[in-house]
Parts: sequence; structure tokens; C-alpha cells
Amino acid sequence: MTAAEIRSAFLKYFESKGHQIVASSPVVPGDDPTLLFTNAGMNQFKDVFLGFDKRPYSRATTAQKCIRAGGKHNDLDNVGYTARHHTFFEMLGNFSFGDYFKEDALKYAWELLTEVFKLPKDRLWVTVYADDDEAYDIWTKQIGVPAERCVRIGDNKGARYASDNFWMMGDTGPCGPCSEIFYDHGADVAGGPPGSPDQDGDRYIEIWNNVFMQFNRRVDESGEYVMDLLPRPSVDTGMGLERITAVLQHVHSNYEIDLFQNLLAAAKREVEAAGNVSGAVDAESPSLKVIADHIRACSFTVVDGVIPSNEGRGYVLRRIARRAIRHGYKLGARTPFFHKLVDALAAEMGSAYPEIKQHQARVTEVLKLEEERFFQTIANGMDILESALAALNGGTVLDGNIAFKLHDTYGFPLDLTADVLRERGLTVDEAGFNTAMNHQREQARAAGKFKIAQGLEYQGTPTSFQGYDKLLVEGAKVTGLYID
Ligand code: ATP
Ligand code: MG
Ligand code: MG
Ligand code: MG
Repeated sequence: MTAAEIRSAFLKYFESKGHQIVASSPVVPGDDPTLLFTNAGMNQFKDVFLGFDKRPYSRATTAQKCIRAGGKHNDLDNVGYTARHHTFFEMLGNFSFGDYFKEDALKYAWELLTEVFKLPKDRLWVTVYADDDEAYDIWTKQIGVPAERCVRIGDNKGARYASDNFWMMGDTGPCGPCSEIFYDHGADVAGGPPGSPDQDGDRYIEIWNNVFMQFNRRVDESGEYVMDLLPRPSVDTGMGLERITAVLQHVHSNYEIDLFQNLLAAAKREVEAAGNVSGAVDAESPSLKVIADHIRACSFTVVDGVIPSNEGRGYVLRRIARRAIRHGYKLGARTPFFHKLVDALAAEMGSAYPEIKQHQARVTEVLKLEEERFFQTIANGMDILESALAALNGGTVLDGNIAFKLHDTYGFPLDLTADVLRERGLTVDEAGFNTAMNHQREQARAAGKFKIAQGLEYQGTPTSFQGYDKLLVEGAKVTGLYID
């Protein structure tokens, strides 16, 4: 099955179980300045869970465009290093708004995986929240998952809210225990089973999270956090399309699935053309994966109205774009190549997300301008960095002042410099960088020309999204943070 077929098989399965198919909301949330980007399928339904918003359906299913490259959910540093993390990905989800609860949710998930997708049962592991006996019993007694593959996780020394298996919107909002499903990619991949110390490998990959929305966490009159029961117990699930596709296509990495092949080939072709190094780029280079990942995040962000800038969402976009450009530079590109990948992306994803075709020319232009700008300074910046590294003489930490100079004069975001260093087992003195940054701010302030600083974290700058109305569900509100 292709990724496109898997996406529609998921939606059709849940439609056959009485779910309304709802369109993805934009990656830029409509009316919540605290949420950087849409990072989960449930974002657009937050108010429905809380009982503030009513829909004509009590069951919904979506394929949601998600971005996890800043704020509470940030997988930017995982891209290129794990087989399973992207900055942009699609989350397949089914939702119950006070309709079915744990039993049906887990049975649907199991039926879809083992009967429709026909995954071998002995490759599947599940986890439940530590004291969730109900979910544990459903898995082991009703569904028949052997106890040795059903793992209780959470409540680590009373840190209930920090637990992996207790999902929360943020400090406040809908929350509840969750149950995750993992697929064992086999002994030739490194990593341990869920709950083990070496879980963080790519062997046992989390494919699907089922959240049992039961509580609303809020601050009471005395300033303490309290949890109220939600009006009605609900369900929120999320399965990464790229991860389940890898499983179904019998490959161990998301980057090996069909959806990425044309993008990776285009990345190789354009980088080679831009560097006059035809045939020289290794098709397996992690840098090509980073580029293929980042063109998706950058393009869908621009589609929804963000442009590269020095603050807020625009700065996240700039950081992702420049990281991709730097990876191209590393492979030999010396002239703009990145924006040329928009065509390959539109060809690959335009049927599922027509907005990328609709905005293709504008997205290309916006990225081209950013790329032309960065190509003016990247070569000199890289030369300075290389000289500084050569002068380290066995040291492992780059001087914060140099990182600041690269940032200030050459447009190297700190995380881009850190990305170069990490490839060589080095780090940067962040405290020194911050001191240099603050020093410069003080001077600018003293000179009466204080300009808005380039914050790494989102600072609430609104992004106006004029939107493709027809893709939005009427009345949908996109709010809240998704944190687990
Ligand atoms: P992980 O532990 O692997 O980082 P997560 O627990 O942070 O995943 P959830 O918040 O539970 O992920 O999101 C639901 C599903 O979305 C995950 O089970 C996974 O299939 C998918 N997913 C999450 N983050 C990413 C990502 N960065 N890239 C691709 N898929 C992802
Ligand atoms: Mg994660
Ligand atoms: Mg997880
Ligand atoms: Mg999870």
C-alpha cells in the first residue's frame, strides 16, 4: 500500500465505524497565540472536548498536518538522527467526543492494525498508564495481548504529570492517561522495548497513541492546579502516517517509504546541479533526509501565511530553511537549490493537500528569496566556523562569541551552528552566546536603537492567516498545546 492508500484506508475504516471525516486544519493555528504550530490532530477539537463547542457529530477522523519544530514539542534536533521523527508529518486520528471510551478505542485500533493492515500480532507491544487497570485488562483479557508485551509506564516517583503515559494539553486543559502501541522492527535494528532503559532506539517504534481524555486541569482560586472531570470521557488518538507506512512497506525508516522517494531524488538532483557535482552525492546521506524533511515543513508553513523573519513563527521557518540550506552546502551546493524542491513536493502531496499546488508559485518565491539571502553569507560564515574549529586544538566547545558573530553577522541561527558542531561531536558555549547577545542588546538599548531581539522561543507574535476557507471545518477553533 502507498502512503496515500494508507491514509485513505485509515479514514475509511473509521468512517465505517460512524466517524465524520474532517479536513486537516492549517499548520498555523487560527486563534491561539500561545500555540506555535499545530502539533496534533486534537488541536482543532480542544473546545469540543472541553464542552465549549458543539459539533453535529460525536465521532470524527482526520489526517492532520502537524509541525513539531518549536515550543513544547520540538523534534528539529531528531531529524537526520532517528528513523522516525520529522518536523512536518501527518497524524492520522480518530476522536470520540463523549461517545465511546477505552474499550472501543483500543478494539478499533487493534482491529485496524491486525485485521485490516494485517500486522503480525507478535510484533506489537502496548503500554498503559501505570495505574490504568482498566486499559491493562482490556488489552490483556479482552484483546489477548500477552502480559509480557503490555507494559505499565508512568508515575515515576510521583511525577504523575511528567509521565510518558499521562497526556496533557499543557499546564491546563484536557488531559488523561494514554496507551501507546509500538511495532517491533526486528533484531537487526538497535533499541529496547518500551519501558526499558534503551527504549530510545528505532527497533520498537511508537506508532499510535490512544489518549483517554478524562480531566480538565486548571488553576483554582488559591492558585493550585486541580483536575475536574470532563463533561464526558472522550478519546483522542494519533498515529504517524509515515511510521505506519514504513511498517506496512516493510522498511525500517520513514525516509524509505514511497512518499519520500521522489523528494529524496529531487534533493540529490538539485543539490548536485547547484554544486556542479553531478553524481557525487551519496544517496544515503542523512543531509538529503534533512532536506527532504525540511522542504515539507517550510512549504506548508509558507502556504499558511508565514514568511521568514527574525521572530516568532517566521524565525522558526527561517531556522528550518537555513538548516536545510546548510545541509545542501555541506553536500556541495553553492547556489540556491532548496526552493526548487517545491515542485517535487507539490507533485507528491498535491492531491491530498491541494493548497500546496494552489500556492506553489508563491511558496517557491518566498523560499527562493530566503535562500538567495542566506547564500550571500553562508560561505564566509562557514569559513569562519571552520577556522574556529581548526583552532580548537582538541577542545570540544566552540566559543560563544564566535557563535554570536555567526548569528549576528552571517545569519547563522544558534541551532544551525550547533547542528554543524554535533556532526563532529562538538558543542557550543550557549551561556557565552547569550552573554554576547545580551551585551549587544544593552549597547543597542543604550544607543536608543533597540530592535526586537531574535528570540529562539515563540513570543506570541500573531501570524495572520487568510486561509482557504473551504478546507476549514465551519466553526472549528484551533487552540491549545499538545504535550505528552
Ligand atoms: P515519540 O515518543 O516517538 O517522540 P510522541 O509520543 O512524542 O512520539 P505523540 O505525541 O504521542 O508522539 O503523537 C502521536 C503519534 O504521532 C506518535 O505515536 C507517532 O506515530 C507520531 N509522531 C509523533 N511525533 C512525530 C514526529 N516528529 N514525526 C513523525 N511522526 C511523529
Ligand atoms: Mg515525541
Ligand atoms: Mg512517545
Ligand atoms: Mg506518544
